[in-house]
Amino acid sequence: MPVIAYRTYRCVLLVLLVMYCFEHIMLVAYAQSLEALRALIDSRAAAIEQKMIQWRRDFHQYPELSNREVRTSRIVAEHLRKLGFEVRTGIAHTGVVGILRGGKPGPVVALRADMDALPVVEQVNVPFASKVRSTYNGQEVGVMHACGHDAHTAILMAVAEILASMKANIQGIVKFIFQPAEEGAPEGEEGGAELMIKQGVLENPAPEAIFGLHVFSGIESGNITFRPGPTMAAVDFLRIVIKGRQTHGAKPWVGIDPIVVSSQVIMGLQTIESRQVDVTKEPSIITIGTMQGGVRNNIIPDSVEMTGTIRTYDEDMQEQIHKRIKRTSQYIAQASGATADVYIRKQYPATVNHDALTAKMAPTLQRVAGQRNVSLSPKQTGSEDFSFYQKKIPGMFFFLGVTPKDQLATAAPNHSPLFYIDESALIVGVRALAHLVLDYAALSTGAPQE
Ligand SMILES: [Zn+2]
Ligand SMILES: [Zn+2]
Repeated sequence: MPVIAYRTYRCVLLVLLVMYCFEHIMLVAYAQSLEALRALIDSRAAAIEQKMIQWRRDFHQYPELSNREVRTSRIVAEHLRKLGFEVRTGIAHTGVVGILRGGKPGPVVALRADMDALPVVEQVNVPFASKVRSTYNGQEVGVMHACGHDAHTAILMAVAEILASMKANIQGIVKFIFQPAEEGAPEGEEGGAELMIKQGVLENPAPEAIFGLHVFSGIESGNITFRPGPTMAAVDFLRIVIKGRQTHGAKPWVGIDPIVVSSQVIMGLQTIESRQVDVTKEPSIITIGTMQGGVRNNIIPDSVEMTGTIRTYDEDMQEQIHKRIKRTSQYIAQASGATADVYIRKQYPATVNHDALTAKMAPTLQRVAGQRNVSLSPKQTGSEDFSFYQKKIPGMFFFLGVTPKDQLATAAPNHSPLFYIDESALIVGVRALAHLVLDYAALSTGAPQE
């Protein structure tokens, strides 16, 4: 090798070595700074914990029904404005979005909390129990945060405050979504995640991933559970009207008895799940919840109306099941000379956690809650309108346990008038969401993990 070429070769090697060392030093420094930021999140979460619990108690004491979250959203918007966020209000009626622009380049990530309460009369014996009454679909009702959305709102307010305090070190943009009407808009109104998306919540700036959590009764306080893929069911509303012909209860052959036909239809519907769809693929449920017909014991009525709910996890199966519900109802009715009008309305799609995102972020949740306190969630047959965001962008939804260990066997479920939250668990939710933002940005800008 000529001397000059050899020198150039050595020179190049040296430059490469220096570059490698420099990059290594930078990566180590970055990893250390990432560690420092994580530690900072944890200490700020501890510092803000009591304030967050007070927010939660205040929301709990003054709950608001879906699409009526006026006070709650005002408090949220004021909080975000004080933090210096760009704040948008009035989205999907009472929705609030806060935008935190970090000091460093990086991805746009969204965090979502829901704000609405339920028409339930609270029976929990706490000093901040709700005494609020309101009207729901024309009925006078009590109002209670029986699903824990008060906690979700307070947790996300705390995350906003923590991340705002370290804004200069945040990579990218964090979009805080405070959503109304997760439990469903009142009759005749639109609302919830679907309307938020229609009104542009996933645009300008467009998040590339979204995270959300739900406090869950029956999971030990501070534990986190989640699963990749289908996690919560799709929900569809079902109404079937069987029309027969009214007659005397003593002379059924003169008319067509819709009560007997309805009973046959109900039994027939149960064979769809057990006999007609592939049970090894995903589970499904068809439930008839109401059945109304007739006014007197000895009159066979003209018609019977049934309403119910359909739960599925797979869109193909959902379509199949809808078709089979129609076919089963109509042919069974026809066999007796009756007719069946079947009406199905899709409510929420299945909550499906994005596989790659879930795999990527699982270590974060394990680190935050502790390896032993994170487990695979079973599929939930309940539904969540977080699913609408997940249909647009990769999303991850996880459950946070809020039941003390000694009460696991007896704890009232979400939506019960006795639903209770162990507030000491909420800080885990705050840390989890804040760490997810930090780690997601670090991972997508190529920084090392651990
Ligand atoms: Zn709920
Ligand atoms: Zn809920």
